[in-house]
Amino acid sequence: MARYTGPVCRLCRVEQKKLMLKGNRCKSDKCPINKKRAAPGKDPKSRAGKRSDYGVQLREKQKLKRIYGMQEKQFRLFFERALRMPGITGENLFVLLERRLDNAVYRLRFASSRSQARQIVLHGHVRVNGKKITIPSCLVNADDEISIADGSRNLTIVKDSLREFGKSGVMPWLSLDPDAMKGKFLAVPRRSDITDLGDIKEQMIIELYSK
Ligand code: SF4
Repeated sequence: MARYTGPVCRLCRVEQKKLMLKGNRCKSDKCPINKKRAAPGKDPKSRAGKRSDYGVQLREKQKLKRIYGMQEKQFRLFFERALRMPGITGENLFVLLERRLDNAVYRLRFASSRSQARQIVLHGHVRVNGKKITIPSCLVNADDEISIADGSRNLTIVKDSLREFGKSGVMPWLSLDPDAMKGKFLAVPRRSDITDLGDIKEQMIIELYSK
């Protein structure tokens, strides 16, 4: 699966928003957004004028896609799946994204960023209900238990992440036992539960893909 390999902070600078893609660095003074660095490009001011509707919709989609570390093709597949589900498409999309295994691993503090979580899953360090799963986009269900494999419990990135972030707790639809390196996806969240992604306007994404 293709993935973005360029400078990560550049993605935040394009959006002029903290997308929290680099773990600890995002909370430090080194974050270019904290330093109010301008958007990349030769003349960012020339792009600072009023955006077209399409431009606004595109930026909303890019923000959400980048937060979850996805490429266009896979993001579009998630959107189409959300469209087929009963209920409100935008809310369905958020719920599907939150159910990704790499996202759940990140949310459970086993990794300091979603990209690091993705690596942990790909390298076979994660178990779902005791079974090895190496597909980051695999969807977890309510009551699934997500754990670090016994043979991987000494992984420095997992231990560091749990030490750094484990204290601050987990989202309400998860539970975590940091000592056992084990957590549970208690229930599928609602859109209103997902409060830490800022002001993403999912309706714009629906309008973009409906053109
Ligand atoms: Fe870089 Fe994180 Fe700051 Fe984004 S939020 S610019 S990824 S340090």
